[in-house]
Amino acid sequence: MATEPDQGENLCLQCGLCCDGTLFRDVEIQPGDDAAKLRALGLPLRNDAVARFPQPCAALCPELKCRVYADRPARCQQFECTLFKAVAAKKMEFPAALKTIRQTRQQAVKVRQLLREMGDMGESIALAKRFKRVKRKFDAGEIPAGLDTETAYDGFAELSLAVHELDLRLRAKFYPDPM
Ligand code: SF4
Repeated sequence: MATEPDQGENLCLQCGLCCDGTLFRDVEIQPGDDAAKLRALGLPLRNDAVARFPQPCAALCPELKCRVYADRPARCQQFECTLFKAVAAKKMEFPAALKTIRQTRQQAVKVRQLLREMGDMGESIALAKRFKRVKRKFDAGEIPAGLDTETAYDGFAELSLAVHELDLRLRAKFYPDPM
């Protein structure tokens, strides 16, 4: 997850998808993580059965740096996406990886825009959760305020397609599975 220039060959600083609510909904705290310190650093840990904090991460800066990099949790330290691994193993050229990141970020921007058009303004909530709650409303027959039924359903169809395309990209290039 978000890394420093000398460790991520600038790849992570162009990306941020693993910290901004695109790839993950939350980050689980691991044994050995200092929960009190992470809370003090501003990570809003929830005390579920497993302590976790939501994404988009409160520590992600606009320039895609991690504000708590030196003290980031174990899961953040350990995670390397498939794209990062491919570049590190010289199986993918750096410019090609940057192009993939750019295209995927553009797709995420499109999803966010369509979510807003469907009345969901929850910018501090992970994309998958936002889509789920919009879908739940449509399933219940609720039409977003200010939209006629046809426009709303056309918009929801476009959003569903955009989310599907984003998910395919994330699965193919970012989640830590074979490429
Ligand atoms: S703590 Fe840092 S590395 Fe971990 S999710 Fe937040 S911004 Fe990303």
